[in-house]
Amino acid sequence: MFKLLQQVARVGLCTEAPPADAGALEPAATRVHADILAVLGRALTIRQVDAGSCNGCELEIHALNNPYYNLEGRGIRFVASPRHADMLLVTGPVARNMALALRRTYEATPAPKLVVAVGDCGCTGGIFGAGYASCGAVAGVIPVDVAIPGCPPPPLEILRGILVATRRLAAPARAAGSAALGAAGEAAVAAGRRS
Ligand code: SF4
Repeated sequence: MFKLLQQVARVGLCTEAPPADAGALEPAATRVHADILAVLGRALTIRQVDAGSCNGCELEIHALNNPYYNLEGRGIRFVASPRHADMLLVTGPVARNMALALRRTYEATPAPKLVVAVGDCGCTGGIFGAGYASCGAVAGVIPVDVAIPGCPPPPLEILRGILVATRRLAAPARAAGSAALGAAGEAAVAAGRRS
């Protein structure tokens, strides 16, 4: 016990300081909360898919789920099934053994079916590239709406990418003067985000 207390006194507090630019995100995050409610009328739900990453990007996604970032307070939730998800958050170069599973996950996701590729690997294949075991970028396997570079990208960048994708969803619905995303809105979103 004494040794443990000695170590605690020696090591001190390990917690990192909050990101310097976290405050700059607040107005945008507040607006996106309103956008999510206007378009979906409920929380934005995200299914995370590791398609072959080194898990570095997952650590940052875990960090994003800390209370500090207040994701659930902003109306954003991670879910366990693509059938309950509005958005897929995909990490890693797509391993050839994961390509079919990723496609099936995409097909199982209902509209609006947003896809955000996370990290250099998700954007381009990164240090792994494409080869006998890797398909490379996520966009080579399923359609991607937003790509977030970085190896790995920090939590704030991942949150920004999620917000950008959500805004794309909100814009057509606003233009149609609709508070809820109906069938016509979904078609407009699908056409707009693939162009
Ligand atoms: S982008 Fe970097 S941290 Fe993320 S999966 Fe690739 S190598 Fe790992």
